[in-house]
Amino acid sequence: MTAEQLSRLREIVETEIQDIHAALEQWRACNGLDDNGVQRVQETAMRVLHQDWKHNTDRRMMELLRLLGKMEEEDFGICQECGEDISLRRLELLPTTAYCTRCMTHKESGLVAAV
Ligand SMILES: [Zn+2]
Repeated sequence: MTAEQLSRLREIVETEIQDIHAALEQWRACNGLDDNGVQRVQETAMRVLHQDWKHNTDRRMMELLRLLGKMEEEDFGICQECGEDISLRRLELLPTTAYCTRCMTHKESGLVAAV
């Protein structure tokens, strides 16, 4: 992967991180916590919904931050299964993927077969 391709990918990831930051801020402002960190949402169902969203968003954020760190490493963009380069197009769509299209398809069909 060229430095130029890598910086384009990094931009994609950083944009998503910024979006998540903005969404989290909104979450805090609207329905989550007040300035003292106290839960304002009273209704249980709503609270669960928001916590789910928060949980998933936090996880995605962690994933993206880890990915930024991984981009520094030499084996970034290499399929963990077969060691081939993952196509740039695929990385642009799914920056956090660890497998090339072929191996992922393999894994998915393996899963289906196992069920
Ligand atoms: Zn592969």
